[in-house]
Amino acid sequence: MRRGDDYLKKLIVVVTFAVNQNQKNIAIVDGYCFYPDERHSNSIPWHCTRSKTCKARFTTSKDKTTVRKSNFTHTHPPPRFLINNGVYYRLS
Ligand SMILES: [Zn+2]
Repeated sequence: MRRGDDYLKKLIVVVTFAVNQNQKNIAIVDGYCFYPDERHSNSIPWHCTRSKTCKARFTTSKDKTTVRKSNFTHTHPPPRFLINNGVYYRLS
């Protein structure tokens, strides 16, 4: 990958916020699903749903408008899913 492409990729992060079937908040980036650690007061760390083996994560401001830190390097392929009316459904 050219250096310029890599730079642009870091500038543009498209995050889709949804809920799962248990009404828990989730976020989707590049086809990967993340769940929040909402105990923090000033920011929200989001961890990959496979965080036991995958270190991908990012941090947003509390109002979810700003992505602060990010690591979108996953150790696994993305899950198959669909979002219907803002609800995330995992496909097998
Ligand atoms: Zn991951």
